[in-house]
Amino acid sequence: MRFSQLLLPTLKEDPAEAEVISHKLLLRAGFIRKLTAGVYSYLPLGLAAIRKVERIVREEMNRAGAQEVLLPMVQPADLWRESGRWEKYGPELLRFKDRHQRESCLGPTHEEVITDLVRMNVHSYRDLPLNLYQVQTKFRDEIRPRFGLMRGREFIMKDGYSFDADEAGADATYQKMYDAYQRIFTRCGLAFRAVEADTGTIGGSFSHEFMVLAATGEDQVVICQHCDYAANMEKATAREIRSETREQPLPLNRVPTPDRKTVAEVCDFLQISSDRLVKTMIWLADGQPVAVLVRGDHEVQPVKLQNLLGALEVTLADDERIAELTGAPAGFLGPVELKIPLVMDEVVAGMSNFVTGANQADQHLVNVNPGRDFSATHQADIRMVTEEDQCPRCGGKLALTRGIEVGHIFKLGTNYSQALNATFLDDQGQSHPFIMGCYGIGVSRTVAAAIEQNHDRDGIIFPLPIAPMQVIILNLTPKDQEISAEAERLYHELRKQGVEVLLDDRDERPGSKFKDADLIGIPIRLMVGKRFKNDGLLEIRTRADGQTSEATPTAALAVIGEMIAKALNPAGDRP
Ligand code: ATP
Ligand code: MG
Repeated sequence: MRFSQLLLPTLKEDPAEAEVISHKLLLRAGFIRKLTAGVYSYLPLGLAAIRKVERIVREEMNRAGAQEVLLPMVQPADLWRESGRWEKYGPELLRFKDRHQRESCLGPTHEEVITDLVRMNVHSYRDLPLNLYQVQTKFRDEIRPRFGLMRGREFIMKDGYSFDADEAGADATYQKMYDAYQRIFTRCGLAFRAVEADTGTIGGSFSHEFMVLAATGEDQVVICQHCDYAANMEKATAREIRSETREQPLPLNRVPTPDRKTVAEVCDFLQISSDRLVKTMIWLADGQPVAVLVRGDHEVQPVKLQNLLGALEVTLADDERIAELTGAPAGFLGPVELKIPLVMDEVVAGMSNFVTGANQADQHLVNVNPGRDFSATHQADIRMVTEEDQCPRCGGKLALTRGIEVGHIFKLGTNYSQALNATFLDDQGQSHPFIMGCYGIGVSRTVAAAIEQNHDRDGIIFPLPIAPMQVIILNLTPKDQEISAEAERLYHELRKQGVEVLLDDRDERPGSKFKDADLIGIPIRLMVGKRFKNDGLLEIRTRADGQTSEATPTAALAVIGEMIAKALNPAGDRP
């Protein structure tokens, strides 16, 4: 590929619309352009990076025994009604009618379509297990499309679905996919972690998210520093907190706390630490109010609350609603004599003689005790884990970090097969629903995540396995015939060796070629200039560490070949 002929509209300035680094750099490097909110065109080098990820994904899925298919993007509403998701999916599902007034939607995911395909065509245990995948454009009408390729409305996903005859088979398939995902993200050259993920109301331990570790990630991840426990904050638990001595309940007391609303203000005023206070918050679960109690220094984890209540959505009530429900202003709420359902975090259940609001302005209660002074409708773990907590497995120290979800694997069980009546016959002629799993990878998001994790102030630093090109040759003096002839020769030679190479043959100053090469993040830069003319030497520079060395053309080609081989096969174990 020649730079002079390439559609690569690089920008000098950061585009105002971009908030995160990958979005800025993808636009500046001329890799993507926005058509409308959350919808992007992929330009040649952007597409090349995406194709690299796709190739690795396909190789590993095929190796794991999955077969590639390509399913329709337009899906009939009736199929979604069968699964019950036409009603449940909400506004992320883009619905429309065709000319015959038939209701349809654009596929945000393909459980319905694949289950339909399999129920029509697979009937016997002899055809199982079956694992099918596709790489396809998805559409989700995200409420806040943002961050470029990180959260688009239209994006590229690999989605796979497995069908097994029994639980043991389904678990083995799940493990195979887990291993394939480990290989995929390792081969992409990314620092990542598989974490236990929320399974909604389904429960069970068969869901993992693959997180690219990056400070800008939207997900919080909890990692044990001693054992291999790692979980999404939505799911993470901690070893139970036990108070050493259970105190004798003291008489309940009402105290004035003028204008002290926040935990810090009340604790300061009453001279107590925040773990002696219990916060009361009013949440709405699908519109229904519940009071939620957590220790003063803890926070509610909304997904845990949502699962506990079996709600589709939980939100915090606003001040007006709080006053209407409790008769008290926010900041002075408490569980005693509160007339709405109460959810108590299990840590609170183990506390005694704590402080809460009195459901009256400027008043708090001291020496509140659960059981004696109030009783909870639900008692469960509904809080966020903190760095003070201990690992639920080994008691070790937990660390909190951030991640970008690039993959998600999930054991579905018979949810969809039962709803859609997708069954097979076993060797006794008995009919059973298929046991399913689903496995997604955000292909376009993976490219963005790679950039979030690997960049500097000059631009992108692509891991070589997913770089759009492996090598960029800079012809530093295009007007010089000898230099240009050598740049051309190297270009052809490298291509002959199977190296993906971009030749910067533009009539530009060296300075702007350096800048563009840094911006687009090609891992290996080979420079041909005066040094070649005078001494027969080329310069090789690696983008990741900025290391530069000189070599004769023959030696340079050998060095580049080695660098590429090493980057593509870090452990030396690829077949
Ligand atoms: P998120 O919580 O980020 O919305 P999700 O749980 O909805 O993700 P899945 O339904 O599991 O995502 O989809 C599989 C994969 O597709 C995700 O792991 C992610 O990498 C990718 N993905 C999901 N939504 C988007 C999006 N709006 N833009 C780009 N990639 C996405
Ligand atoms: Mg989503």
